[in-house]
Amino acid sequence: KQLNSSELRQLYLDFFAEKNHKVEKSASLVPIDDPSLLWVNSGVATMKKYFDGSVKPSNPRLASSQKSIRTNDIENVGKTARHHTLFEMLGNFSIGDYFKEEAILWAWEFLTDEKWIAMDPDKLYVTVYPEDKEAYKIWHEKVGLDEDHIVEEEGNFWDIGEGPCGPNSEIFYDRGPAFNDLSEDDPENYPGGENERWLEIWNLVFSQFNHKPDDTYDPLPNKNIDTGMGLERMLSVIQNVPTNFETDLFMPIINKVEEISGITYDKGSEKQTSFKVIADHVRAISFAIGDGALPSNEGRGYVLRRLLRRAIMHGRKLGIEKPFLTKLVPVVGEIMKEHYPEILEKTPFITKVILNEEERFHETLAEGLSRLNEVTEQMKKASETILSGEAAFQLYDTFGFPIELTEEVAEEQNLTVDLEGFESEMKKQRERARSARNEEGSMSVQSDLLSKLKDDSEFIGYGNIKTEGTLVT
Ligand code: ATP
Ligand code: MG
Ligand code: MG
Ligand code: MG
Repeated sequence: KQLNSSELRQLYLDFFAEKNHKVEKSASLVPIDDPSLLWVNSGVATMKKYFDGSVKPSNPRLASSQKSIRTNDIENVGKTARHHTLFEMLGNFSIGDYFKEEAILWAWEFLTDEKWIAMDPDKLYVTVYPEDKEAYKIWHEKVGLDEDHIVEEEGNFWDIGEGPCGPNSEIFYDRGPAFNDLSEDDPENYPGGENERWLEIWNLVFSQFNHKPDDTYDPLPNKNIDTGMGLERMLSVIQNVPTNFETDLFMPIINKVEEISGITYDKGSEKQTSFKVIADHVRAISFAIGDGALPSNEGRGYVLRRLLRRAIMHGRKLGIEKPFLTKLVPVVGEIMKEHYPEILEKTPFITKVILNEEERFHETLAEGLSRLNEVTEQMKKASETILSGEAAFQLYDTFGFPIELTEEVAEEQNLTVDLEGFESEMKKQRERARSARNEEGSMSVQSDLLSKLKDDSEFIGYGNIKTEGTLVT
């Protein structure tokens, strides 16, 4: 069946609407009331409140297409066919309503039924948690899946550190031996392993426990279902293209980069990686800024800055030496407008933030790179292979090079970076900053006032200190 990205997204939501699910809008990438997460990284991350019983949903069956950011996959982007920083997770959820059997049978129906995706069942494999005999039985007896298509997997226990968790069952699509990137005897060379042949498309989580902050597990009041299907991966199978990047979700961005750089996408795999990284990162950057994140030197803002700077560096590998990411934002907006109109609506703001960041980085980049090259030249002369923590810190502090960027450039020249040395330089700087702040603080009006208040009356808290309505701490 030939579908484009909007049609596939819609088909999934329609399928579950037909099974009485209420379709929820994608939540913001910036988690609300959830300090445990930097970014929303899955559909279920936005639904913890329902799963732990603190909020009752308007309908116990929900479905969504949730924008998600995963920074743990950043190094994989452009190298594997299947990993992104921002991707969409299609999911169906049962809040104490249906459980394993329905979840499995519906997944199977959606994937294989003529009316829906109509995939060849022989191409599908599943993994189950070894202790989850129930799931095994449903796959084998109710679905009728051959035993050699069911793999028991020790790691199949889904747990994001806090909140709902439980055994899971993953569905893999066999893309055929030509896609296998591993040797015959590689331990990952099986359906369920880390390889490109058997593509993980859907994860079904049977959540029945609550992982508490003190690392204990309580049974949940009701058993739940949470699932996640990667839209981009499903699309790559449906559109029969080599990687997620050749689908209609990415190709128009890549085409725009071809136009800007004057280089074609098929110019060898190294260049292709740069195209892919840029296309991936500009989506994440656009959505993150659209949801209110701003580049900075810590936390979420640091991730965003790192994505921006990585994309700029890959632009340089394609010979682009001036700001260009801004031109890609409307392309992203156009691709995503049906489900995420916010990108087109906020394009002026998003491009303003990006342009500011691109201009600033370009100013220092050239200088930083030539400094880095000087260092690596010296190292080569001295037959050294480890870039010192001081040098890495100088690049960070003076030229704004994220440490990961320094590592990448070093890696290209077969060098490593002394990360511990870098960390200790960072620590020293933090201490310097702290003592500078303390000195300033001791002379400031605010702390004078504070000590007076403490002497005169009972302490009323920092937030309440005011003089004539002007000074607020
Ligand atoms: P993988 O093993 O491939 O890294 P995962 O097991 O970490 O995937 P899940 O947490 O199970 O992924 O997420 C549910 C689904 O979301 C996956 O089955 C996959 O289709 C999709 N997915 C997960 N991570 C990514 C990513 N970085 N980029 C694109 N799709 C992803
Ligand atoms: Mg993963
Ligand atoms: Mg996996
Ligand atoms: Mg998984």
